[in-house]
Parts: sequence; structure tokens; C-alpha cells
Amino acid sequence: MKIAVFSAKRYDREFLSAANAKADAKAEAQAQAGHQLHFFDAPLDLDSVAVAAGHEVACIFVNDRCDAAVLQALAAGGTRLLALRCTGFNNVDLSAAAALGLKVVRVVTYSPYSVAEHAVALLLAINRKVHRAYARTRDSNFALDGLMGFDLHGKTVAVVGTGKIGLVFARIMRGFGCAVIGYDKFPSQAFLDLGARYVGAGDIGARADIISLHCPLTPETQHIINQETLGRMKRGALLINTSRGGLIDTEAAIEALKSGQLGGLGLDVYEQEADLFFRDLSSSIISDDVFQRLLSFPNVIVTGHQAFFTEEAIGTICETTLRSVTQFANGEALSDEIKLEPAKPQ
Ligand code: NAD
Repeated sequence: MKIAVFSAKRYDREFLSAANAKADAKAEAQAQAGHQLHFFDAPLDLDSVAVAAGHEVACIFVNDRCDAAVLQALAAGGTRLLALRCTGFNNVDLSAAAALGLKVVRVVTYSPYSVAEHAVALLLAINRKVHRAYARTRDSNFALDGLMGFDLHGKTVAVVGTGKIGLVFARIMRGFGCAVIGYDKFPSQAFLDLGARYVGAGDIGARADIISLHCPLTPETQHIINQETLGRMKRGALLINTSRGGLIDTEAAIEALKSGQLGGLGLDVYEQEADLFFRDLSSSIISDDVFQRLLSFPNVIVTGHQAFFTEEAIGTICETTLRSVTQFANGEALSDEIKLEPAKPQ
């Protein structure tokens, strides 16, 4: 199949090509055709969609925009499968895709460890001020003022969304000796088996010293962290978001940081990240004042959507994506298809 790969970075090219070579070797043994990968630096949007013409498959990432107009243009150009090389799919208009007969697949599972471990990295760095210590010691400043953290042992950690990633994060936190509470629309026995317990959505803030977000971005979860929920949190609580930027009302978080209500913020995702992340803007003027304000706080760490970025995760993402394309080419059932009305909302 001809695959137009959008937002293709060096590592996407490398790992997808390697996965395709592997798949090709297998396909040759089965006397079937391999895939033709055409890489495009540009993200998929109305300006770039024309290059997908003639490709049966468009392969996209987290910030490629797949609204109805883009999907119509894709379908008109002959694309029949949209393959997301990520888990979340809040950037795709699924109703429009279904109406156009476009199938949509994602990577349901790659490495929940990659994202959960990054959430822990953000938490440890914020709590123990690792980012500040790194800068200080490089300047021969070995003073400890301002670097005090707290023991995680014995603290209460709240996990919002106890699916694959939330569960791994909860397990790690249990290993630190934390009490773990959680909220999920669909509670799981696996979470309870960790010795964690579920509480009502409204009780999360009042009890937790640390809150980590692991639910998907949906109309229901948009801005679940807002002025009101921030106000209900324990004063000085730490908030970690490795899920999707839209879960947090950023301006409300800034006000909570200014007042000290929020004690620290670790972000791998940001509401307006599509204009910023995955590129080198170090010589540019950033015009997003909200983002710049966030970066001005000593108790905020932002990473640029890198939680998934481990060798294991990228390898699996690329292999799973091509497996889906092969399934589609062979007319087989798509194991990672996103159905319009999934049994369990994502
Ligand atoms: P998952 O589907 O296994 O788990 C998500 C959980 O959230 C489910 O248990 C679901 O029931 C729950 N949920 C759904 N709606 C909810 C609601 N309204 N309130 C509370 N919980 C709700 O998904 P996962 O693999 O654990 O991934 C979670 C999210 O992490 C993805 O949706 C994606 O946005 C994000 N993610 C980020 C990165 C990154 O690099 N930063 C990488 C992968 C995934």
C-alpha cells in the first residue's frame, strides 16, 4: 500500500522504514506486496492534504488535524485508511470519517511504561527541584536554599484515568510507599488489586498531595482541571499531566500557581502545543504569552510531548501501525480500529 506519512521526523523515518523492511521480509515469504512509505515533514492539515492524493493510507501523529474538511480532501484523493501512530485520537473527527467510509486505526497499546515513567520523572524533578539543582551546580552554586522537597513515602497520590498508563503509574507510586486513590468512569479490579482505592471525582482534590492525569481528552474531560477544581485541591498539591493539554485550563492553572494554591506543575502536554512542539524554535520569538508565563515559574517543568519517546515504544508504534496497514490490505479485521461508538469511551 502507498502510505503518506505526515509530521515525519528523523526517528519516524528510521523506525517506520526498519519496521517496513522487517514486514517486507515476512511479506516476501508470503508472496505479498510490502508497503511504500512516502514521508512528509509537514503536519496534515488543509494546506498539506493534497500531497496524500493517490495514497491509500495517511499516517498521522498527535497534532495533525483531521477535521471534516481534511478528511473529505483525503477521501477525494483516494485515501481509505487513516493510521494514527499514537493512542489518543481527539484530533480526528470520527463521525466525518465514518460518513466518508474512512477506516481509522491507532496504536492501542505500545509501552504504557514509557508514559508512566515519564510522569514519575516529572513528579520527582518538580518535588526535588532537580531542574534547578542542575542549573545551579553548573554555575558552582551548591547552596540548598529553595531546593527542599518532601518525602513521597506516605503521601496520597491521585490517578485520574486508571487505564493502561494510569495503572502502571499507580503501581510505581505504590512502590514508593504512597497511598493511591483513583477516579475512572470504568473502575478496574487491577487498580484495586494494587491496594489502591477509588473515590468520587469530587473527592480527588481534597485528599491528594499529588494528582496525575491519565484519562483521554474528550468533550467530557476538557478542562477537568479548572478554576473550581484547582480551588478544591489541597493547598500546595503537585499536578502532573502527561495525557493531553486540553485537560487543564492553563490560565486557571497559572492563577493557582501565582497564589500558591498549586505547588508545582509538571507538563508533557499543553493545550496549544500544536503551534510549538516537535520542532526547534530556539531562534524564534514565541508569541504564546500563556505558554511563556508558564515557563517563568520555578516550580513548573514542561517537556515537549516526549513521554512516549523510548526505543521500545517507537519500535512497537511503527510495527503496530504497519501491521494495521497490512491487515487492511489483506481485507482482514483491523485489531486496532477505532469504532465510532466503542464499548468503552476513549
Ligand atoms: P486507556 O484507554 O488504557 O486508559 C484511559 C482510562 O481513562 C480508561 O480507564 C478510561 O475508562 C478512563 N476514562 C475515560 N473517560 C474518563 C473520564 N471522563 N474520567 C475519568 N476517566 C476516564 O489509555 P492509556 O493508554 O492509559 O492512555 C491514556 C492517555 O494518555 C491517552 O488518551 C493519551 O491522551 C495519553 N497519552 C500520552 C502520551 C504522551 O506521549 N504524552 C502517550 C500515550 C498516551
